[in-house]
Amino acid sequence: MGFLKPEHEDLKRLTRHFTNKEVVPIADALDREEAEIPTPLLEKMAEMGFFGLLVPKDYGGLGLDTLSLCVVTEELARGWLSVGSVIARNVLCGHILYKAGTEEQRRRFLPGMATGMRQTASAGTEPEAGSDASNIKTTGRRRDGHYVVNGSKMFCTFANQAHVLFTYVRTSAEKKAGGISLFLIEKEPGEQFAPPHLTGTRIRTVGYHGMNTYALFFDGLEVPEGNLVGGVEGRGFKQLMHGYEVARIQFAFRCIGLAQAAYEAALAYSQQRVQFGKPIATFQAVRFKLADMATEIEAARQLGYLAAEKFDRGERADVEAGMAKLFASEMAHRQCWNAVQIHGGYGYTREYSVNRYWRDSGLLPIGEGTSEIQREIIARRILQER
Ligand SMILES: Cc1cc2nc3c(=O)[nH]c(=O)nc-3n(C[C@H](O)[C@H](O)[C@H](O)COP(=O)(O)OP(=O)(O)OC[C@H]3O[C@@H](n4cnc5c(N)ncnc54)[C@H](O)[C@@H]3O)c2cc1C
Repeated sequence: MGFLKPEHEDLKRLTRHFTNKEVVPIADALDREEAEIPTPLLEKMAEMGFFGLLVPKDYGGLGLDTLSLCVVTEELARGWLSVGSVIARNVLCGHILYKAGTEEQRRRFLPGMATGMRQTASAGTEPEAGSDASNIKTTGRRRDGHYVVNGSKMFCTFANQAHVLFTYVRTSAEKKAGGISLFLIEKEPGEQFAPPHLTGTRIRTVGYHGMNTYALFFDGLEVPEGNLVGGVEGRGFKQLMHGYEVARIQFAFRCIGLAQAAYEAALAYSQQRVQFGKPIATFQAVRFKLADMATEIEAARQLGYLAAEKFDRGERADVEAGMAKLFASEMAHRQCWNAVQIHGGYGYTREYSVNRYWRDSGLLPIGEGTSEIQREIIARRILQER
């Protein structure tokens, strides 16, 4: 028996229909303009409940399982990587908040996040803390019922659109990972942020348009004590690590959706494009590429489902999540390039969707923990070092 139940298949079909109608027709043009995902599309996604897939019904979400998140993510990312990614923020920050927040914080933040009325962004990475996530230098000093935040963050994607920044801050210099706390920093949406205490600068990227990413600068920003997740200092790193399992599973399905789109485009093109009097799909060099694509995509999908199912059973799934992310991201990067190669010179132009897929795929082995870090996680466990 496969991993998916009939309700997962239904959800996958429903999302595929949504993507074909709402995302596919606009993605290429918006990518060319380096435009953001349009607000009406975000609103339609909110109506579908995509931002609250995992949040329990009591807090305004759909209360579904991780396999449901996988199928929805794959289908949205098949239309546009950033659309598969934009749900990740509320879904994953919501998951962390549900697990680690106080009841007051859950009631205050989760319903808005689950319904997509309030958007979030995750501010972890810093200039000196990328892979070494516990090396963050941004500080939060307690003073008169507030924490005063100083420092800077890198690559905070969707920070402009967000109402809440899930921000990892050092509240103690004594312990490295144990000195990090997670804060909910509230702001108005918009690129102006909250000057002079919070400012941001857009970072231009070669792909993954649809969501802008920012360097953020905190200069004496006051955050109420009540916005410390869980109400206890020093738990931020553990909260981040717990979130990583489901985040990496979700990320794997962004990769799979993108690779699936590239495969479908390459398959169609190879049957239409005629050279030497025959469709190029008749040449072994091309058809073997297609066969490898189909095989690797399915392998990534099944590995991702395996990780999701284990996570849903309540078992530790960090290794499987790391494997799924590692394999799917490198596979998608490779296969998006193969799709360009099958399109020949046309694939190198901005006129064909495969060009977008290929530019977007460059991020995959880097974001949400690089391939090297995933290999470290896997190696540590198989060598029984942790
Ligand atoms: C478009 C984009 C969007 C992003 N969005 C977000 C976001 O919303 N929120 C957020 O917090 N972050 C975000 N990031 C940051 C992303 O998670 C980091 O870029 C990533 O974790 C790597 O960190 P780094 O770029 O500092 O690279 P580094 O950590 O400096 O790594 C450089 C190289 O060294 C390797 N390396 C480092 N340490 C080791 C080691 N121990 N063993 C072996 N190799 C190692 C890495 O694998 C890599 O190849 C985003 C990045 C991009 C490009």
